[in-house]
Amino acid sequence: MSGNAESTAYRSALEVIGAVEPRVATAIRAELADQRESLKLIASENYASPATLLAMGNWFSDKYAEGTVGRRFYAGCQNVDTVEALAAEHARELFGAPYAYVQPHSGIDANLVAFWAVLADRVESPALRRAQARHVNDLTEADWFALRRELGNQRMLGMSLDAGGHLTHGFRPNISGKMFDQRSYGTDPETGLIDYDRVAEAAREFKPLILVGGYSAYPRKVNFRILREIADSVGATFMVDMAHFAGLVAGKIFTGDFDPVPHAHIVTSTTHKSLRGPRGGLVLCGPELAEQVDRGCPMVLGGPLPQVMAAKAVALAEARRPDFVDYAGRIVANAQALADGLQRRGTKLVTGGTDNHLALIDVTGYGLTGRQAEQALLDSGIVTNRNAIPQDPNGAWYTSGIRVGTPALTTRGFGTAELDATAELIHTVLSRTAPGTNADGTASKAKYVLDPGVADRVSKQASDLLTGFPLYPAIDLG
Ligand code: PLP
Repeated sequence: MSGNAESTAYRSALEVIGAVEPRVATAIRAELADQRESLKLIASENYASPATLLAMGNWFSDKYAEGTVGRRFYAGCQNVDTVEALAAEHARELFGAPYAYVQPHSGIDANLVAFWAVLADRVESPALRRAQARHVNDLTEADWFALRRELGNQRMLGMSLDAGGHLTHGFRPNISGKMFDQRSYGTDPETGLIDYDRVAEAAREFKPLILVGGYSAYPRKVNFRILREIADSVGATFMVDMAHFAGLVAGKIFTGDFDPVPHAHIVTSTTHKSLRGPRGGLVLCGPELAEQVDRGCPMVLGGPLPQVMAAKAVALAEARRPDFVDYAGRIVANAQALADGLQRRGTKLVTGGTDNHLALIDVTGYGLTGRQAEQALLDSGIVTNRNAIPQDPNGAWYTSGIRVGTPALTTRGFGTAELDATAELIHTVLSRTAPGTNADGTASKAKYVLDPGVADRVSKQASDLLTGFPLYPAIDLG
């Protein structure tokens, strides 16, 4: 699509929207302006292509299509069939997976679909069969009681939240921690790395039905061959949630032992992080689990979002192009340049570096909490998110870490020199920030004092850095 076509498309769309509710059109314009102006280091965000974004803004949104391709509960789904089949085909080809289910609306939905599919495959339960015919919201207390009793308190072993795992990997307050009797594995306290011997030991003791691999904040490669061997040794189903690093799998950076697809029984992902697609999820598996995965609707999902499946088809087609391999390689080179730049300036990183798209800064070295560091960086035009570090003394709310990632800035065209300059800006802000005090004189975990002038100076430097790398350069909203 030419730049002119993109500008025309968005200007027309905003005119149409603005004629009905101008404040929405204004907010959409403001969002583009904000995204253009911020130095975005949020590891889970990216910038989807205009083609991907435009595929979501149309009349597919009006269509109900419960069921699967060719087997719908509604008439007139032939065009939805086309886009769903295309998205699934691109996902299978891209990841080398026998089966792909592209209906999940998000990563959490994809994980729920996978959990229920494994339970249905592994455990004989009439209550589960009955529940699968309904939407999860329609289950009564009595249904849940029967389910838990018949499922026999099944066990899940996943990475702990403070070691970098995700809420859905068995965190107590999440539904995964309620559905399953859960236990988690952490990382080595000295190195911050996964200790596979300890995972094996935990698996031997706990005998999980599902062993979950994958993470939201672990900055290293994971050896999925070893995790599969551990799962096999205790008869567990091995599931990998590659939500964060799917782009690195698609871009052939994670191959062999580090590619989850040939090793896991079932793989889930989001489509909007390093994969650079629309907000959504997907599930990959072999033929033995495919039938149960297809029962995602009605067990977990209602009608799919055909407009998002259309956008998944576009983004997955983009990820199959040779330039995506180059993009994925640059994401990692940039993350390493950022990590090296930070460490050269004395910043402490969990595990001492990165081999994926993210790094985890331990801000205790600056005498700060994650909350203070996140806000001071934001004041200075740098958007990050606070994140717990292993054995975090400040818990999951204040935290002691800042997670930084490079998928978004790499999409803008940043290279290693710009990431080194970014490291300098981060270090400047953190080293010029001091913890604040509460009104009663006690130390605050939220308040902070940034040296005068630093926020303005760094914001200006961040903005200068971004000027050379315009976001959506072809789109001029006038
Ligand atoms: N799985 C992992 C590993 C994640 O990091 C996330 C999101 O942060 C999810 C699942 C959930 O994705 P979503 O926000 O699309 O539900």
